[in-house]
Amino acid sequence: MNYEDLKTVEDLDGLYPKHILDKFPSAGQNAFDDVSKDEWNSWNWQLQNRVVDLDALESIINCSADEKKSFIESTEKFNMGITPYYANLMDKLDVTCPIRMQAVPNLGELIILKTDLEDPLGEEKDMPVLGLTHRYPDRVLFYVSNNCPMLCRHCTRKRKVAAPSSAAQNKQIEDGLKYIKEHKEVRDVIVSGGDPLVLSNDKIDYILGELRKIPHVEIVRLGTRTPVTLPQRMLDDKLIEILKKHGPIHLNTHFNHPKEMTREALLACTRLALAGVALGNQSVLLKGLNDDAKIMTSVCHRLLLMRVRPYYIYQCDLAEGISHFRTKITKGIEIIEKMRGWTSGLAIPQFVVDAPGGGGKIPVNPEYIVSRVENKVTLRNYKQEQYEYFEPS
Ligand code: SF4
Repeated sequence: MNYEDLKTVEDLDGLYPKHILDKFPSAGQNAFDDVSKDEWNSWNWQLQNRVVDLDALESIINCSADEKKSFIESTEKFNMGITPYYANLMDKLDVTCPIRMQAVPNLGELIILKTDLEDPLGEEKDMPVLGLTHRYPDRVLFYVSNNCPMLCRHCTRKRKVAAPSSAAQNKQIEDGLKYIKEHKEVRDVIVSGGDPLVLSNDKIDYILGELRKIPHVEIVRLGTRTPVTLPQRMLDDKLIEILKKHGPIHLNTHFNHPKEMTREALLACTRLALAGVALGNQSVLLKGLNDDAKIMTSVCHRLLLMRVRPYYIYQCDLAEGISHFRTKITKGIEIIEKMRGWTSGLAIPQFVVDAPGGGGKIPVNPEYIVSRVENKVTLRNYKQEQYEYFEPS
């Protein structure tokens, strides 16, 4: 089957067995039932009709007093923007709904701890040109847009995506391309933002085309949350054709909870996969939302069914105003401990702490080596049973 043959969620019926499809309920459009199917499936309509004010929000959910206060008081710092598709997934009554927690302002955002950082990953200090971070020897992070379909409340780059005036300019993109061309050590480029897929097809085609002309660039990655918050973007045949043309493209997305894994998201990922795009996922560990081994395992199992590799679980960064989302690092280790051995290694992402201040990603794992005496290493397995391994002396 080709991606062109998959236009609607109904077309998935011929591709997946029913028991798999049943794990991906359709999002529907309940709160927007007066909107035509064509409009609903248009990514431009979704962007133009984002939920950005309190009246629109209250027409979808029963806002709590705290949510209203948070909306009013956080707007200046980090405004609200939710695609109708994502807004429609919110529980009308439950303030702890995992979709609602990621989309609606929370009082916790008003608290700035002494240990919070405006630029938690030190991305600005490793910028040789505006809009490009060069930290690791052979790869760069290239910011081509400062807009996102949805403004995630836990975003680590709030300082960028919250400011409409900071939209990436053409000059910034040209300067980034020039830097990559001039630095032969750059083998791998992560095209990110904001979200690069809010750009026009022509712009995306141009950026990917220019990168592909550079002889030392081998890997091109895209960081985008559109499969989660705007899966309608993947219904655009022209976009998929562009990604196919400039392949191999590695696309990393950001599913955090099984409730985000809808039939529409399955359609979006399947279309990408059929066009040869390699898919990965980076979840963020968020308190009260997915800091639970059963929930994380369920996310990872569904990811595999969607042809997406579970790549990373990130410890929540020290960005300002997101301390209410943070867990202890031991929680992430505990989740991996409860996954390793109990489910396939394919389904287990790497848990990482992105070191504050710009130290890069540091993998954190449960300890499986019990002791090491001369050439004897004692290991333990997932059931806490111990085994001895003798290394060459
Ligand atoms: S999609 Fe990513 S960059 Fe954009 S608001 Fe969400 S977390 Fe931030």
